[in-house]
Amino acid sequence: MTKPVTILGIESSCDDTAAAVVRGNAHDARVVSNVVFGQTEAHAAFGGVVPEIAARAHAEKIDRAVEDALNQANITLDQIDAIAVTAGPGLVGGVLAGVMCAKGLSLAKGLPLIGVNHLAGHALTPQLTDQIEFPYLMLLVSGGHCQFLLVESHDTYTRLGGTIDDAPGEAFDKTARILGLPQPGGPAVETAALHGNERAFALPRPLLHRDDCNMSFSGLKTAVLRARDDIIAEHSGLPTGIRSDLCASFQAALRDVLIAKTRKAMVAARAKAPAITALAVAGGVAANGSIRTGLEALCAEIDTKFVAPPLSLCTDNAAMIAFVGLLKFEHGQVDDMSLSARPRWPLDQTSPTLLGSGKKGAKA
Ligand code: AMP
Ligand code: MG
Repeated sequence: MTKPVTILGIESSCDDTAAAVVRGNAHDARVVSNVVFGQTEAHAAFGGVVPEIAARAHAEKIDRAVEDALNQANITLDQIDAIAVTAGPGLVGGVLAGVMCAKGLSLAKGLPLIGVNHLAGHALTPQLTDQIEFPYLMLLVSGGHCQFLLVESHDTYTRLGGTIDDAPGEAFDKTARILGLPQPGGPAVETAALHGNERAFALPRPLLHRDDCNMSFSGLKTAVLRARDDIIAEHSGLPTGIRSDLCASFQAALRDVLIAKTRKAMVAARAKAPAITALAVAGGVAANGSIRTGLEALCAEIDTKFVAPPLSLCTDNAAMIAFVGLLKFEHGQVDDMSLSARPRWPLDQTSPTLLGSGKKGAKA
């Protein structure tokens, strides 16, 4: 077994400034510290992540995040074997803040520098938390991303499909805004939906008839907007009970699409890699109880293991970046000072580039 190493991870691709220390080897790694500074308040007045504000907040907090991560791990930079940093995809100002910080530390201490793809961080987290074996199917559902990935090794990914417009978290956040609920919208909509009837509104479930694994969520948000306007016209306001019905109906439509497409993605994944070991989820939307229960039921039906890492490792964090760094380090994949920040960086280089940009940055 490979000798254990200690990796410092740095993440700043969206609206979380994070640093973490991970120690171990590919088969047995442990999160020693995991520091995340969120920026929700800095962006609250703008209804979404403002790239310039995010970049400045990262630059201000990143040194502190690294310091805290080292302190909590009770080590110094001298005990670190390599520095892993998110080099994309994401909001380029934020990614740059992380890459510059990592380069500075690497130069000062003569430590190897490893650029990590943020999406690889999410995709490989189930190996860190549940030691699942390759190949597996990953459903990444977050505020900025939505895709099915067949994960066959730490650097072999096939993108089987994904959203062609909004990410699911974005749809939750926009729905919350339309209905006067607070941000982040996911938890607010889910809580309201608990008291609602999901059959009250017939909302669209686009692209279900198509055999591929692509999804679309922007029409759903527009349908919520129309339904809200109809309710206001009829009731001269938005009664709480009806709002809950609309939240429940929205959540059900999104869940149904995700589940139906996951079923198709699993068939496509098995056609390419029959030995699929599990369905794993990652991203903030994976916290949603209704979606999680639906995916669990699907996995039970198709006799597939379901893996959902704990939420702190499902949402943006630096432990996942440190872990990918560890895997790359074991394979001798290190970078030099020419490492650059990449706003776009698809994991599957062969899949066609998607156009458009979500509220949390360019879609990869
Ligand atoms: P991430 O992009 O992975 O940092 O996750 C943030 C996104 O997850 C935001 O768009 C949230 O609205 C969404 N989210 C968080 N909790 C939930 C939930 N319980 N249900 C649906 N979406 C959620
Ligand atoms: Mg985030």
